[in-house]
Parts: sequence; C-alpha cells; structure tokens
Amino acid sequence: MISAYTNILKKLLVPDDILESILEIDLDYLHEKGYRTLVLDIDNTIVPRSENLMTLNMLSWVARVKNSGFELYFLSNNSSWKRIERICKQAETKGFYFSCKPLVYSARDMATRYGFDIKKSVIVGDQVLTDVIVANWLGAFSILVDPLDKKLSFLKTLQRDIELNILNKLSIN
Ligand SMILES: [Mg+2]
Repeated sequence: MISAYTNILKKLLVPDDILESILEIDLDYLHEKGYRTLVLDIDNTIVPRSENLMTLNMLSWVARVKNSGFELYFLSNNSSWKRIERICKQAETKGFYFSCKPLVYSARDMATRYGFDIKKSVIVGDQVLTDVIVANWLGAFSILVDPLDKKLSFLKTLQRDIELNILNKLSIN
C-alpha cells in the first residue's frame, strides 16, 4: 500500500531531468528523442522575479532553441499580463499568464490552441509543486532547474526545502 503511494508520488513529483540552468538543456538529445516543443515557466526560470526582461544571454539561448527546430511557448502563473506580454514580445513567441499550475487546464489549452502534442513537449520550470506536477501529470518530459533568484522569499525557501526533501526521500525509497 505504502509503496503504491510512493510510486504515485514519484510519478508526479520526480522530474525526468534536473539541471542547474535552462541553458544546460541538451537540445540535440531532446530533438533526437522526437521532442519539438518547449513549454517554459517564466519567473525564476528564464527571468528572475526582480527583473523585467531576459538577459542577452537568455535571449540568444531562445534564438538557439528556435534554430534547433523547436517551438517555444511560455506558461506562467504570474498574474501580470503586462509582464508576460513584455517577455513574450522579447522572445517573439506566445505565452499564457495566470496559468494556475499545478492545474493542467492551461497547458492543455495551450497545446490545443497552438496545435502540438503535449505528450511530445518538454515542460521546464523551477518548482516541483507547480511545473513538474503539470509536466508529469500530462505525460510530458519534465525538467526542473535551479531558481535564477537565489535569494528567495521565506515562503519560497520553505517550499524549495520541502520540495528537495520530498525528492530526496522519493529517490532513496
Ligand atoms: Mg517559476
């Protein structure tokens, strides 16, 4: 009983890959495996919460993603339409704001609207309890990255600690 429960949690919470930064994603590997769509979180994944725009470094990575044959979309829980619109413009792509991750509806809507198979997409974010759950629930390839902003608020730090704790426990069991 307990191991069945652990298995469900593992399937939901453990990412397919854990990286220090989104810049480390192995695009060639994913392309080879048949993935053609990246769905990216914004806050603390491609832009620190305290910043309004992507760095030039991040922007050139976005260009590389597109040149490597991927479609790229943003799926953000941020409630500021202006912020998400600004970053979408900068990346010359589309995105959803106020996505309510870990609920999966927005990701599904996005796949329908832009015509891609969510199961063949890669969902990337800095939080287990939102980004990874959505990805794993929908059967996408899930990647967890370190948050860009190392000075997280108290609540975010607490959440991060809980997430890392859960991941540690799950990978030992
Ligand atoms: Mg985030």
